[in-house]
This record gives sequence, structure tokens and C-alpha cells, in this order.
Amino acid sequence: MNILLLGPPGAGKGTQAKRLEERYGMVQLSTGDMLRAERAAGSPLGKQVQAIMDAGKLVSDDIMIALIANRITQLGGKGFILDGFPRTVPQAEALDVMLEKNGIAIDQVIELTVDDSALVDRIAGRFSCKNCGASYHDRHNLPKHNGQCDVCGSTDFVRRPDDKAETVAARLTAYHEQTAPILPYYAKKGVLRSVDGMADIDVVTTQVETILNKSKG
Ligand code: AMP
Repeated sequence: MNILLLGPPGAGKGTQAKRLEERYGMVQLSTGDMLRAERAAGSPLGKQVQAIMDAGKLVSDDIMIALIANRITQLGGKGFILDGFPRTVPQAEALDVMLEKNGIAIDQVIELTVDDSALVDRIAGRFSCKNCGASYHDRHNLPKHNGQCDVCGSTDFVRRPDDKAETVAARLTAYHEQTAPILPYYAKKGVLRSVDGMADIDVVTTQVETILNKSKG
């Protein structure tokens, strides 16, 4: 099964994608994580995108399409969860072309809806495990055992530089202006489902799983 998670920054796409990855053995394809890995490695691509990411703007479609095309051909038939791609209509169109070329179909497009007013709080409080990437939040989702990652036990955590309140506003603007227009694109194809991303994390997971089970059924 191949799915696409859509929604604004802070909607919980990464958290839900990680859960689906653990439970169903699907592969999370997070373009944000891919770019952060390029930056951490100090690659030419990492250096090229650094300022754009830190300003909360979108990296160019050409770069993103090339990055994801590379990963999709390496999947070897495993189901995937696209998280953070596509983020523009040209990216959505290019994705369709590359999937068709590889004989792959998207089974479900799931939008996590969250009020803008809740997003700044969600993003500003979040952090993740440096080792395995599991996501947490200062108030809503702390590690269960005293500062140790629930998934891998690491005590090393990181915060994203673009999760600062100043940058979050730019990221939300980019979402509304450039990414939200892809929702009608998928609605027209009849594959778009919405889940209330304001609900408790476990409730969101259950709702996403219900959609996936119906799709399998
Ligand atoms: P994310 O982790 O998905 O919030 O992505 C972090 C940042 O990476 C975004 O604010 C963009 O600067 C960049 N980025 C990630 N995915 C894309 C994409 N599909 N198109 C353009 N920029 C992206």
C-alpha cells in the first residue's frame, strides 16, 4: 500500500508516518528528512538548500522532484508513505508521471487538518530523537521514561532550526499559498480523505488505520 500524507507543518504527518512505518513495515519518504540529512552531511545540495529551509521557504520543484525520483526507484516494491512531498501542483503532476513510469499507484491521500492557531504552539514545542527521529512535544507528547526515547532508548534529542516562531509564520504562508492548492488536485481524482489532526495522536492513528483497512478491504 502506498499513501500520501498531506497537511500543514505541525499537523503530525511525521509522527503518523513513523507509526505506520513501525506497524506496517512501510517506508517513510520524508523530503524534509532527506534535505536535513544532506545538510548534516555537508553535501553541495545541503549547502544549496540551507538558507531556503531556514527562511521557511520551499526548495525549488526541480531539486525536489529529482530527490524523490531517486528514492522511488530504490523502493523495490515496498509500500511507502510520502511525507512532505508533493508540496506544489507541479510536484504533484511530476509525481504522477514518475509513479506511472514505475508502475506504482497511490492508494490513499490523507489530509491531516489542523487550525493555524494550534500549529505555532505545536511546532514551537516539538523535538525529536537524534538517533531514530521519533517525534516528541514539550507538553503534548513527552518520552514516557524520563528523558529516554520510547523507540530506541537514546537520550540525545534535537530541535529543528526552522521550528522557531519567526520561521513558522513563513512556513504556514508557503503551505497556504503553494501547497494547499494540491488538495483539489487529489479531490478531483477521488482519492482524498480528511482526518481531524486536532484529535489526540492515538485517535488520529486509529482514523488513519481505518482508512487504510477500508482501502485494503
Ligand atoms: P518538513 O520537514 O517537511 O517540514 O520540511 C522542512 C523544509 O524542507 C521545508 O520548510 C522546505 O524548506 C523543505 N522541503 C521539504 N520538502 C519539500 C518539498 N516537497 N518542496 C519544497 N521544499 C521542501
